[in-house]
Amino acid sequence: MPGIIERYRQRLPFAHGDPVVSLGEGSTPLVLAPRLSERAGVEVWLKLEGANPTGSFKDRGMTCAVSAAVREGAEAIVCASTGNTAASAAAYAARAGLRGAVIVPEGKIATGKLAQALMHGARVIALRGNFDEALALVRELTARHPIALVNSVNDFRIEGQKTAAFEVLEALDGELDALCIPVGNAGNITAYWKGFKEAGVRPRLFGFQAAGAAPLVHGAPVEHPETVASAIRIGNPARWEEAMDAMTASGGAVASVTDAQILEAYRFLAAGEGIFCEPASAAGIAGLLAHGAGDARRIACVLTGHGLKDPQTALEHAGAVVPCAPELEAIERAVLG
Ligand SMILES: *Cc1c(COP(=O)(O)O)cnc(C)c1O
Repeated sequence: MPGIIERYRQRLPFAHGDPVVSLGEGSTPLVLAPRLSERAGVEVWLKLEGANPTGSFKDRGMTCAVSAAVREGAEAIVCASTGNTAASAAAYAARAGLRGAVIVPEGKIATGKLAQALMHGARVIALRGNFDEALALVRELTARHPIALVNSVNDFRIEGQKTAAFEVLEALDGELDALCIPVGNAGNITAYWKGFKEAGVRPRLFGFQAAGAAPLVHGAPVEHPETVASAIRIGNPARWEEAMDAMTASGGAVASVTDAQILEAYRFLAAGEGIFCEPASAAGIAGLLAHGAGDARRIACVLTGHGLKDPQTALEHAGAVVPCAPELEAIERAVLG
């Protein structure tokens, strides 16, 4: 499959002949979730964004942001990240032959994401501070130096990420009542709304935040955001107004879910649907189960990142392995017992 710039070039700010930095992102599966549908009492489809090249939806935005940076003659890119933006930026920088630097909150990013950023050769800088502080600092840094900022404050990121809305509509013949999505820095919900509007449809957008990091729900920034869902551990979303506009204008809502609800949805998806997403992604499902999605009959939920990103959280919340002696009877007991 071609990447999203090739696939949707007419709807993206790229002309033929522009440089394209792609890893074949997009074209991710949209699968029906029978057990979740039964539990929620509506038809639920899951958009598996963990199937992108670096394992999260960030790749859709990154192919555009990095392609534009190359077009502009940038030599380096930088971002602040809770993890997935760092992994994606590092991969696309490597692909483009650019230098990449990523600023992450020290000790607060999932193991898989850290491994990716380091393997792709980015300079990984651990900030003794949280994501919001990291973003404020990289904004200042890029105002002073000719380095491209590839956070979702960069409009090319939004352009790329809106293509997921096109794909959902194509797969469902345009018939969609609502979308459930986790909200952190609020770039992705902004992007979906832009995509839906451009496609001429207005499904209700339901955004869900973790209870310990729910500034949009409280209507005020959260100084020390805390949640097991590290990808949405953000206290002052950059796309605040746009996200609120998307939810209000579409007739949706914003609500919060507890870590316990997130982890329950996380295990349910893995064990009940065969889909392993990361905790932040499960926030959308937890939100649907806890708060519903209005009168919608057909819903799509965005599973933003792959479960393998965060093996530590998985192992902390999964069952134990079964030890066994190398004998048939012991194996029988272990397998059948
Ligand atoms: C980035 C990210 C989010 C949040 O997206 P925003 O655009 O920051 O709202 C949710 N889940 C995962 C897995 C992410 O990587």
